[in-house]
Formats: sequence, structure tokens, C-alpha cells
Amino acid sequence: MALLGMAWVARGESEHATRATRFLGWVNAGYQALYRVESEAQWKASTDVRPEHDAASEVAGKARAAFNGNPAIIREARELLARRSELSEQQVRQLERCLLNAAEGPMTRPDLVARRIAAETAQASALNGFQFKLGGSNVVANDLDRILSKSTNLAERRAAWEASKATGPRLRPGLEALRDLRNACAREMGYSNYFSLQVAAYGMTADEMLALNESFMRELRPLYLHLHTWAKHELARRLGQPVPNRIPAHWINNRWAQEWGGMVEAANIDRYFDGREAAWITRTAEDFYVGMGFPRLPETFWTRSDLFPARAGEARLKNSHASCWHVDLENDIRSLMSVEANSWWFTTAHHELGHAYYFMAYTRPEVPPLLRIGANPAFHEGIGELIGLASGQVPYLKAKGILPAEYMPDEVSVLLNDALTHAVPFLFWASGTMTHWEADVYAKELPTGEWNERWWKHVADYQGVEPPGGPGTRGEAFCDAATKTHINDNPCYYYSYAIATVLKFQFNDYIARKYLRQPPNACNYAGNREVGAFLRGMLSAGGTRDWRVLLREATGEDLSTRAMVEYFRPLQAWLEEKNRGRKIGWD
Ligand code: ASP
Ligand code: ZN
Repeated sequence: MALLGMAWVARGESEHATRATRFLGWVNAGYQALYRVESEAQWKASTDVRPEHDAASEVAGKARAAFNGNPAIIREARELLARRSELSEQQVRQLERCLLNAAEGPMTRPDLVARRIAAETAQASALNGFQFKLGGSNVVANDLDRILSKSTNLAERRAAWEASKATGPRLRPGLEALRDLRNACAREMGYSNYFSLQVAAYGMTADEMLALNESFMRELRPLYLHLHTWAKHELARRLGQPVPNRIPAHWINNRWAQEWGGMVEAANIDRYFDGREAAWITRTAEDFYVGMGFPRLPETFWTRSDLFPARAGEARLKNSHASCWHVDLENDIRSLMSVEANSWWFTTAHHELGHAYYFMAYTRPEVPPLLRIGANPAFHEGIGELIGLASGQVPYLKAKGILPAEYMPDEVSVLLNDALTHAVPFLFWASGTMTHWEADVYAKELPTGEWNERWWKHVADYQGVEPPGGPGTRGEAFCDAATKTHINDNPCYYYSYAIATVLKFQFNDYIARKYLRQPPNACNYAGNREVGAFLRGMLSAGGTRDWRVLLREATGEDLSTRAMVEYFRPLQAWLEEKNRGRKIGWD
């Protein structure tokens, strides 16, 4: 096994460093082996929800924790880190990872860990196996999304929106228990709460993370207020309604009002996907990466992934949220999606493969399994986001034959659609609603009887959106936060998508100026190998470098909304003109 090769004792190494090398050789081997066992079990439980798969996943989770959270590992990692000046940067990074991993299931409290794993497994099963109903019939999430993206009948839209929120009450008790169990695990390892533990992966405190997200929103707020004003006038016109102050949630195409797609008719390209095969979407996404000089995906990606919705009549229930898995931290890479032929899944498929190509880039002997992770979680999301952005560029879509050669949208429509669908409202949802609600729940231990009220307060204040029935109509019997996948199975992580959004514009800006010499908001880098080499350089480092240093080296800049603000600058003047005489914002 390549890892144990790393256990060589380098000449001149101190005794302490030699001890670290030996320890890390074994920890990496055990970590990787158990990671694989658990991923395999979770994969089965997510793609075919059944009690026996849940049970197997629970046992595998316990095995993983028994190793990662083993008191002997915690003790040794701490002792080694106590004399960190004698260790290499790579050793320190791996040892710190050991402690972060241990905090997910510290076996100094086996009872606590067992309860947490059982609760996590049950929650995943309830989420993945939920049967949505609409008008008494079984439906899947894609069916509800289709209504929200196409229907102009408000009663029908509201029914679909409400159907999508039926998971909340079902998931609520599990989430309440998990808040306490997750916090208790983090505290056992000395973190003040689970939110702080997750933020530690960035080398930041919870307050620093909240302040960063505040700064994103402050810098984008003028643009968001104008987009919000334009959007509510446009939607009111389309739906034949008076203009509201806040936007009713069921007016928007997305179940959480996180992305505002389909509002810009001139840039709506969904019809060009009609009649395409879903399989063509995933192959096209792979071609994008190959065109930039990345290799093809491993053959097993195509045989082991679960890429399409369960077929009609198939009894199997599967998770409906897209994800990508590094099953063995080597070449077994899989994606779980429910791809259909439309522009949303087109972008999503490009996003998911961003994770796959990140996995492939850092799977090399120089990167030990413990550090086969992104430079930070937002880097992992940001690469997929970047390629999602690039895959929507008109010249690329024409080259692929998706758009006809004569397709000529005006620049402002494209930019407006980009802002609404992939960028600005999303930031207020991610930095605002999601991040603040989880900080309230985990770091500030918001009493469970106030969860739904706080959720809608954040939706109202940050997003300018309200429930379909108006303020105060979603009482505590609902648990609308729990309808969002990540709240259940990827907790205290969502600010990573906000950072990823900011990063994607920074990367795109750098690529457009440095390699393409084209304007960042109208460039085409499909097929450009120099761009591929630039990306590969960043991705292949995995978690071996400090993300701040890596970002500065790669782009010459620190994390900043500068590129994002500049990208949309031409839109601001246009929106001001359109919104002349209108009340801006909702306060
Ligand atoms: N696009 C993100 C994801 O891949 C966030 C979301 O879907 O809410 O999970
Ligand atoms: Zn992702």
C-alpha cells in the first residue's frame, strides 16, 4: 500500500518526527480502509433505502468511529502536536485532521457516539426514504420542481410548495436530538459547539465565519435589493398579482427560494434541452473536463454511479439530492444524481463532476489519505461552481449544438439570468438564512420551540421572502429548515457554498484575464488546456497546503467579492433604470 511507503524514516529527522511518521503511516492506512467500508454502506443506504441497508450503514459508522475516535489515537496525536515545531507542516496538518475526525465520534464517550450514529442513520433514512405526495398521488422531488418551474397557476404552485415541505415535521424530532448529540461530540473534544468544530476546518472561529458572511452580504446588498425589486415586479406581472413587499416563496422556482431561475425569458434555454437524453448530459459534462486536458473518468464511474431518477414502477427509494463520492479515497468515484434533460441538471452535472475531478487530482502518492480533501470545503464546491458557470457560456453551448448558431441573447439578459440563477439571491440564502440559522441552533442553542419562527425571520430579513400564506403562517408544528438536505446530513457546512460562490468569480476573473484575455462575463474556456493546467495545479494539492496561501499563489488575491461585484457591474445601471420610481427593497 502506497501509504506505508511513507513511513520511511527521513535522514536527519528528530526522534519525535520519526514517531509521527510511524504513527501517521498506520493511521492513514486504517482511516482509508474504514472510510471505504463506511462509504460503501452509506452508498447502498442512499441509493436503495431499506432497513437492512440502514442497519449495515450504522454498523459501518460505528466501526469508523471506533478507529477515528479511538482514545489512543487522540492521545498520541495530541502528544505529537505538543511539540509541533519538531514536525513538518505535512505532519502537523495530518495530526490536526486526526483530531477533527475524532471529534465526529470521540470514543472517550462510546455511549454518546453510538447514540449519535444511530440518530444520524435514522435521519438519513427518513430523509432519503420520504415519499412525497401531491393530491394523494406519490411523486418525486423532480415532479414538484417541474411544477414550480413551469406552472403559472398559483394554487397549483402553492400545493407543490407545501407538498415539498411535508418532510419537515417528519424530520424534526431527529434533528432536535442530533443538535444535542453533535454538540456533545464536539464538546468532548474541546470545541465549544458543532458549528465551531466545522468552521475549524477553515482555521477560523464561528464569529469570524459569521463576520465573513456578513461582509459578503454587505458588499452585494445594493445589487440584491435591485434584483429583488425587479424580480417581484416581473413575477407579479406574470402571475397577474399586485406587487408584494416581500416575495411569496411559492412564486419562485426553487423550493427554498435559493436560486431564482426561469425569470429571464430571453435567457431561458430549457427548451433547447427538450428531446435530449439524460445520459447525454452527464457525458457532455465529462467532455468539458476532458477538453481542458483532464483524463476521462474511471470506467467504474459509469458502472457504479446512480445517475438517473428511479424508473416509474420501481419500488426503490433513493436520495434526491445530487452528490459525488470518493468511495475508497482512490479510484472508486461515484455520483448520485437524478439527471433529467434540462438546464438545471446540465449545470448540476458539471458541478458534481467538479468534485470527481478534484478527487482524481489529489489522489496521488504524495497526498496521504487524511489530506485527500479540498484545500477547504469551499474549494471543493467552488471548482464545480466554476465549471457550472463556464458550462452556461453561450459560445460553449453553441459549440455543443445545444443552442442554434443564430441564438443571440442580449448581454444584459444573460447577466441578469446569471445573477438570479447562480449568484446573488443564492448568497443571501447561503450566507444569510442557512448560516445564521445553524449558528443560532448549534452555537447559540436556540430553544427548539423557536426554530421555525427564527427560520422565517431569517428568510424575511435576509432574502426578502415570506411564506405563501403570509407572515406568521408557518407555526412550530412545521420545521421548514429540515426540508433542506444539508440541515440533516451535512450540518454547519452551508457557508461553504457562499464562499464557493465568491471563489468561483475570483477564479473566473483570473482565468478570463490571464489566460483568455476576454471579459470575465463573456468568455469561453471550454477546450482550453492552459486553463485546465491552472486548475489542476490547485486541485492536486488537496489538503496539503493552507487555503489562504494557495489562493494567493494561484490568483494573486485574498478571498474577496471584488470579482463578483465587477462581474455584475453592467447590470446595476440597467436595474436602476428599470426600477426607477419603484420602492427598492422591502423595509
Ligand atoms: N448546489 C449545492 C449542492 O450541491 C447547494 C444546494 O443544492 O443547496 O448541494
Ligand atoms: Zn457540491
